[in-house]
Amino acid sequence: MMAYIDPHIHMVSRTTDDYQRMAQAGCVAITEPAFWAGFDRSSSQGFFDYFRQLTDTEPKRAATYGIKHHCWLCINPKEAEDVGFAREVISIIPEFLDCPTVLGIGEIGLNKNSKNELIILEEQLALAESTNQLVLVHTPHLEDKLKGTNLIMDAIDNTSLDPTRVLIDHVEEHTIKSVLDRGFWAGMTLYPDSKCTPQRAADCIEMYGTERLWINSAGDWGPSDPLAVPKCRLELASRGHSEELINTISFGNPLDFLSKSGKFSIS
Ligand SMILES: [Zn+2]
Repeated sequence: MMAYIDPHIHMVSRTTDDYQRMAQAGCVAITEPAFWAGFDRSSSQGFFDYFRQLTDTEPKRAATYGIKHHCWLCINPKEAEDVGFAREVISIIPEFLDCPTVLGIGEIGLNKNSKNELIILEEQLALAESTNQLVLVHTPHLEDKLKGTNLIMDAIDNTSLDPTRVLIDHVEEHTIKSVLDRGFWAGMTLYPDSKCTPQRAADCIEMYGTERLWINSAGDWGPSDPLAVPKCRLELASRGHSEELINTISFGNPLDFLSKSGKFSIS
């Protein structure tokens, strides 16, 4: 069985059964971006505890199943509308950045494309710039996606961040080309039946190739599938794609991008 990496999954919302099933399907490493936990936290202390969970508790839980766990830290755009609150959370991040499993800042981005979200996005890009971190970007869903993706890429272009150290996630058919053309990495999130399914992701790979592209499950507390990556590998195999292509999209590419952090390791 070929090993795979799920580079975007929210294990704090998943059970140990999920870890076990992922390990059985070949998962050797995951990375977990900081995001909304299904509810708004009532204080910045809630984020301090969340960052402890991401940097300490989850790596231990994953290790029980032979899976390496790394994470990304930030205030997510869904909770960034209150600028003062968001800044309190941002002030907590630097003390965690030296943790051996923290790969960078993420998933930052936009949710409703609001002015306040953009202010906080820019401040977190500045933090990534000054501390030389990789960046993982969340793009808004449905009708806000195209506009939001362009606003985010423009904000990054206004910094000195190297686009090859930034991955723009949740791309779909109408955003993937511009993300790749502007030099960024792109992530396709596989949802069970809405948005980007394994079949649509396979179509995108057939149209755009595999360069600077990865797939992930973004499994979380809502309808999602922690086995979405192996299911997409099966879809690609059933269409006659080579083991090499399947390995590139689900193992080699995440390994290449995540290794730019200098901290990512598999065993
Ligand atoms: Zn996510």
